[in-house]
This record gives sequence, C-alpha cells and structure tokens, in this order.
Amino acid sequence: RIHAHAVQPGVKARDEIKNIIAVASGKGGVGKSTVTANLALALQADGARVGVLDADIYGPSQPRMLGVRGQPESKDGKHMQPMLGHGIQVMSAGFLVDEETPMIWRGPMVTQALEQLLTETAWEALDYLIVDMPPGTGDIQLTLAQKVPVSGGVIVTTPQDIALLDARKGLRMFEKVDVAVLGIVENMSTHICSNCGHEEHIFGSGGGAAMASQYGVHLLGSLPLDITIREQSDSGYPTVAADPEGRIATDYRHMARSV
Ligand code: ADP
Repeated sequence: RIHAHAVQPGVKARDEIKNIIAVASGKGGVGKSTVTANLALALQADGARVGVLDADIYGPSQPRMLGVRGQPESKDGKHMQPMLGHGIQVMSAGFLVDEETPMIWRGPMVTQALEQLLTETAWEALDYLIVDMPPGTGDIQLTLAQKVPVSGGVIVTTPQDIALLDARKGLRMFEKVDVAVLGIVENMSTHICSNCGHEEHIFGSGGGAAMASQYGVHLLGSLPLDITIREQSDSGYPTVAADPEGRIATDYRHMARSV
C-alpha cells in the first residue's frame, strides 16, 4: 500500500486526503469509470474512507454510476460539500452543468477547473481519493498528473492491441511525472455467453498480462465482459454495491488490497 507521505506538498487538500490514485486509460470506452467506481467501493468495503473525483470533464459519468443527483452545497461560501453515493464522497463537473450541456473547453481551462474541483471541495478525512481521469494521455492528462499530488496510477485497458498501444502511452505518462504505476486492470477480457456458457475472448486474450510483464508492473486483475456489469452501472449500483458477495466484487476487493 502507498502511504500518506507519498502525497507531495502544495495542495490545500492534502491534510484531508492521504492517498490520491489516478485511474487512466489510453482510450475511451474501455471501462475506466466503471473500474474507478467499483475500486472505490471495494476500498470502502475494506474499511477505508473513500472519495471519487470525476475528472472526466468531457463525459462525467460518476454521478450516474454512483447514483447521485442534485447540486453540491456550500457551508462556508468557499468550499463545496461533496455529494454522497453509497457512502463515497463524490465531486464531478457533472454536478455543475446539466447532462445535455457539452463541455467545449480548452486544455488550460480543463486543468484549472479540475484543480478547483479538487481543492475547493470540502473532502472529509479521506484515506483514498480516486480520480477518474479524462481518457487519453495527451497534454491535459499530463498536466493533471503533474498538478494533482497523485500517489499512484492505475491503467485500465482491454486486451485489444489498439487499446494496449494506447495504454502503453499511459504508462509513459505516469513515468514522465514520476507517479508510481500501481498496476494494470484488464477489462472486458472474456465474455461468457449467458445462454450457453461458452467463453469467448472478444478483444483478444492475455494482452494485459503480457503488457504487465513486459513493463514490470502488476496486473491487478482481469474482469469479464458481462452484461450485468453494464446494467448495474447504468442503474447507479456498480457491481461491488449491487452484488457484494459475487465473483466480480471479490475480484475488486482483491485488487483493492494490492493498490
Ligand atoms: P470509460 O470510462 O473508459 O469511457 P466506461 O466505464 O464509461 O468507460 O464504460 C463504457 C461502457 O461500457 C459503460 O456503459 C459501462 O457500463 C460498460 N462496461 C464497462 N466495463 C464493462 C464490463 N466489464 N462488462 C460490460 N460492460 C462494461
């Protein structure tokens, strides 16, 4: 596990947050937000106090995934109170604009908005703040990883070659800003047919493991492509909350113990 001293000084929020973990992906749609929400719930199930900062400013999905609605309030006129979803403290750009409003912001505005979301939220004593990063590994992500005192990074990928190529850029991005990579999560690794039980590797197989061994990082876990995962996230009850004793929740709790 990473420890409090891993958090660099310079951010006001540091007294209230012990560890900041950034969850990144090379490309969109690989399950970064789903993994963020479930990892947060799994850490909480282990007794940690957890928050989620939805930094996926162009497509904030944590409000819906963690089943939180409404607008954050302020007690002191300076800080916003985080919203609560399944006991997780949540802050998202999604709370500040309506769902239909597209975000057309330039890089510096995005970075500034995210710094504000981080430092102007009245986080209450967190062991972990999990940051759902914007997809990709460009300038925005790099600046973010630099400005936010991240203690460790997690990379989500599918086993597909194209996603792996992009995920490698994610590894390099964390390296560039001296953030330790805690591991890789391979999502959508296999699909088990709900009719006949046949197992299929829709996006290829073993890519995450190969990448982990090639770069000397941990493979935190592999998760199946499963319709119930999608249904549960859509309904505001991510799998770890919806089926805490199930196989996928168990896998997530296992992962949470190795970050
Ligand atoms: P990203 O954050 O990388 O863009 P999301 O977490 O939003 O990706 O996932 C994209 C879509 O795929 C969502 O509808 C989500 O519910 C679904 N999804 C993610 N992981 C899985 C999985 N393992 N099985 C089935 N559906 C999944």
